[in-house]
Parts: sequence; structure tokens; C-alpha cells
Amino acid sequence: MKEKDGCQICYFSTQPYTTAMRLNRIVILLLLPLLFSCENQSADNSSITAFVGATLIDGTGASPINDAVLLVENGRIRQVGSKEVVDIPKGAQEVDMAGKYVMPGMINGHGHIGGTEGLQGGKYSRENLLRDLALNARYGVTTVVSLGGDEQASIEVRDAQETGSLSHSRLFVAGTIVTGDSPEEVKLVVQENARNKVDFIKIRVDDNLRASVKMPSDVYSAVIEEAHKHGIPVASHLYYLKDAKGLLNAGTDYIAHSIRDKEVDQELIELIKAKDVYYCPTLMREVSVFAYAETPDFLADKFLLNEVEPEIIEALKAPERQKRIKENPRTKVYEEALVMAMSNLKKLSDNGVKIVMGTDAGPPARFQGYFEHKELELMVAAGLTPMQTLVAATGNAAKHLNLKDIGTLEKGNWADFILLEKNPLEDITNTQSLLDVWIAGNKVPEK
Ligand SMILES: [Zn+2]
Repeated sequence: MKEKDGCQICYFSTQPYTTAMRLNRIVILLLLPLLFSCENQSADNSSITAFVGATLIDGTGASPINDAVLLVENGRIRQVGSKEVVDIPKGAQEVDMAGKYVMPGMINGHGHIGGTEGLQGGKYSRENLLRDLALNARYGVTTVVSLGGDEQASIEVRDAQETGSLSHSRLFVAGTIVTGDSPEEVKLVVQENARNKVDFIKIRVDDNLRASVKMPSDVYSAVIEEAHKHGIPVASHLYYLKDAKGLLNAGTDYIAHSIRDKEVDQELIELIKAKDVYYCPTLMREVSVFAYAETPDFLADKFLLNEVEPEIIEALKAPERQKRIKENPRTKVYEEALVMAMSNLKKLSDNGVKIVMGTDAGPPARFQGYFEHKELELMVAAGLTPMQTLVAATGNAAKHLNLKDIGTLEKGNWADFILLEKNPLEDITNTQSLLDVWIAGNKVPEK
């Protein structure tokens, strides 16, 4: 539907024509352009921006729109469609995007924000938090779901982001990761998080390849029960198939890592679908554990080097460090775990399980922003199509994680989108041909 800017003056009677009526009609028709031009002069459309001419992928999984017009006003999408169906209001600012590609900003469904710096891991601070959100924004990751380690500044930043002046990435938080030895103990941590109005509760059910004690089922069941009392979904870190089944039966809402010890079976698939639980593979997390036993190719990638201090790259190349990683027996296990994780992703996706893109980026040498682009590559290497992968990182991520007004380029949503030189549906690495990023219609500043 074309949007009408003009007033409703175009009324004609259905009575038979008389000469007088015909004359009236001619007069009205002659006056019409004048009336509309008055209307256009009086309406101030300078706050509207029209992004024109790109091929637009809207994040829903629908076919791309060629020669698209995306109208943005007050940070939100006013209208979107092809040039034939969307009128550009007179006076609107126009941004020419002909020959390029537009898609929604990416959502990282599993990140960590604000407590990361260098290779040792930094101290959490508001300054680090804002630096991380600006970094993610420059990479086109316009929303990060931080699953733990989120302190007061994160809550404040999250609460202040519903504004048309935003230009850093959006943030959703899990507060303190819930740990404890007894149901009573963990319930108190959940209650404290609930008072802080977290978006998710995060637990870890893992023995880190038998290096630590796993949270027992009565304890995680208590966490889930308490979180649900407060209406908060529970994201579970896990590794083993058996724990995934236990957590699903206990009511977890979100599986925040791949199942990596075994191939997923029919029982798991049926359970995860029956419980309507979403699944985040975090394949790049595995890569980050074994890749630095050598110098991975991506350490020479300009797309990474643009944003990383050279000292960090040098430290990752240090022979001593690489030798230490190579000799750690866990390195090999996690390398094999990636193969299992990728095959499980394909199987779950093929069986209709809800997939959300996420990386577990943020900790040392898990490069925020950059890793999300590499995660897309791995998802495609696992057998998903570029469209499935992009939707898992945009529209479906927002839908499954229940994040309002983002994820797709549809009317009313925040105008969080990225501009690419090349088509990501032809080759997923084309998300790395990133030209510009907009959040709430504001162009993200360069470094
Ligand atoms: Zn994590």
C-alpha cells in the first residue's frame, strides 16, 4: 500500500455528470497539484531518511526485496518495500544504496560484555562495557545477549537503550551466573538477579571434561523453578547429551551451547521440540579453545586486524603459548567436539529445532564482533543455507529470545541494519564486506 501524505480532498459524486459538475471537476483537478504542493511544503519530512536502491534481506526468511526503499523516522522503520510500493515523502533525506545489500543487524544470542580486555580478561567496568558495545556495533552485531558477568552498569545501559538516539549495540543481560551447592543457596542468587530485572538466568551444568564438579539436577531444577516464578527464562551451559535431556525435563528454556559428547538422538529431538526450547551452537567457542595451538589463518585477516591491538596478535603467535595449548590434552577433545557440534547443528536444524546464532565471544581471544561473522561461516560449513544462517542471527534470534522490536526490517521495528558490498546469500563470507552499520537509524561512528 502506498502511503498517502495528502489530505482527503479527492471525493467525487457518483451522480450522473452535468456540465457544471464537469467544470467543478476540472477546477478541482487543476487545483489538486497546488493543494498537494502546499501540503508538501508545510509538512516537514526532514526527520525521515529514505535508504534507497539496495537489495534488502529483511531477516524473516522471505525472498530479498530488489531496489528497496527503507524509510526511517525517529529511529524506527516507518515503511519498507520495493520502490514501486513505497513513496518517498518530499523533503525526506535520501541515502543512495544502489547495487549494495541491506540486512538486519546481527544478534549474538550468547556473548559476554564488559569484563573483557587483553588476553588475561579484564576487570568489569562501565568503560569496558561501552567500548565492547561500540566494537560490536562496528562489526554489525547490533544486539548482544550477555549470558553472565553483567553488573550494575549493564543493567543501566540496557534500561537506557529504548531511544532513537542510540548508536551503540543493544544489550540484554543475565546478571550473575547462578552457582551454589544447594537449592536454598541458588534460589537466593536467582532472587537477587530478579531484583536486578535480568532478561535471562544463566547456569552451567558441566564438569569441564571432568576438571570440576557439575551442578546436580536438584540444584539446577531449583534454579529453573525459581526463575520461572519470576517469569525469567533460563539459559543453560552444557556439554553432554545426558545433561541436555535432564535440563529439558527440568524446564530450561534455552540451550546455550552445542551438545558435544554424542550425536543427538531422536529422544533429544522430540524433547527439545516438545518443550519449545531454542538452541545456540557457539561453534566459535570450540575454535577458540584449540585454534591457538597454532597460528590460525584468521589472525592475518584484515577484518580482524582493523580492531585488535597488534600486541594481542603477537601474544597469540608466541611459540611458548602455542606449545602450552598444543600439549594440553583438552585441546584435542574440544577440536573433536567442534566436529560433533557441527553435525548436531545440522541434524537439529533439519529436524525443525529453533536455532539462534551465538558465539560465547567476549572472553580473551574470542573476538567480539569478528567471531559472529566466523560463526556464520561455520554454520554454513555445517550444512545450513546462508538464508537459514542469517535468519538464525536476526529474525529468529529476536523471536526465540523474545527481544522486542528488533531482528527484522519490518514496519515499527528499530532501524538496526547493516550495509554490505556483496550478497551474503551467495556467499556467507560476504557479511564481511561490511560497509556501514545503523542502530536506531543512526550511523555507527567509525573507530
Ligand atoms: Zn558463555
